[in-house]
Amino acid sequence: MTTSTRVHNFCAGPCTLPVSVLEEVRDELLDFDGTGMSIIEASHRAPAYDAVHMNALADFRSLASVPDEFSILFLQGGASLQFAQVPMNLLADGETAGYVNSGTWGKKALGDARKVAPVYEAWTDAEGAFDRMPGTDEIEVSDGSRYLHLTSNETIGGIRFPELPSANVPLVTDMSSDFLSRPIDWDVHDLVYGGAQKNLGPAGLAVVIVRKDRLSSHGRDLSSYLDYATHDSNDSMANTPPMFAIYVMGKVLRWMQTEGGLATFEQRAAERASILYGAIDGSDGWYACPVDEASRSQMNIVFRLPDEDLEERFVAEAADAGMVNLKGHRSVGGIRASVYNALPVDSVRMLVDFMDGFRSAHG
Ligand SMILES: *Cc1c(COP(=O)(O)O)cnc(C)c1O
Repeated sequence: MTTSTRVHNFCAGPCTLPVSVLEEVRDELLDFDGTGMSIIEASHRAPAYDAVHMNALADFRSLASVPDEFSILFLQGGASLQFAQVPMNLLADGETAGYVNSGTWGKKALGDARKVAPVYEAWTDAEGAFDRMPGTDEIEVSDGSRYLHLTSNETIGGIRFPELPSANVPLVTDMSSDFLSRPIDWDVHDLVYGGAQKNLGPAGLAVVIVRKDRLSSHGRDLSSYLDYATHDSNDSMANTPPMFAIYVMGKVLRWMQTEGGLATFEQRAAERASILYGAIDGSDGWYACPVDEASRSQMNIVFRLPDEDLEERFVAEAADAGMVNLKGHRSVGGIRASVYNALPVDSVRMLVDFMDGFRSAHG
């Protein structure tokens, strides 16, 4: 398969990956670094894998400027397991935390945390539209809360915090769908987590970055996999790690470094978003973005067409033209273009050209 046969993939997750990374993986698949086997056949205790693993940890730290006071953990179970594992590890018996319910993912995080601890909803969209993020002054954090949980980008609703709100307690943020697309303010965080498959690599890996002094403060009798301390003290090799996902993410992190680091990706995200929102806003309302302007996501760009038949045709004709996975999430409908770190700006330009043509043909 040559690069020219590749589609423009607007999938919300797993995501499109850099071609250069995929080519490296292909080239190394039969013989990784002279070992005579692929990395997925190697022992996770072998020196070859150890180097891959430790480099991925180090590269994540340098790319995201993670301070020494934080531990970086590579875990399985996706971001979803973190909905339970976070409160298990950060809250002692009876302790509480606030959760911003900003949409599908914020709600799931809250729901699972409630099964573990007496946490509470610090904000929700009273109108039920979930088309905007709250301002700092709308979020109610009660006394004694150990943290405030946020979802930096709601993948389905297509909204994000342009800047994270401030709180008088540490933040815990699910960054799954805008992971490493902008710098992270570590001072305000106790923990950041996300699944790798929306911006950084294949599925099967979650990255958790947690302040070290919060490890083992829960006093709970957790099974070893569920206890962050287990992974911290074993460099995330307490059990067999998701080696292939870590290996590929490691390559993506290197690629991001070569491209110029987070500043580059923040700027590219802004460029992709401005091209796409520009096309929507310039269509005299034919394409319509249902999201509050200040909360518009730069990763998952949602819009509607005049009716559902047209939306269906749009998705089908775009696919014929090589642009796939544009159908909105089944819970909300419409169109969703996910434009993650590795999606070339040219793919967005092509989509916008297609949008113009489609409107001329059907408008
Ligand atoms: C996709 C997603 C999740 C769930 O991720 P899994 O890795 O599939 O468990 C959680 N939060 C957000 C914001 C997401 O986009």
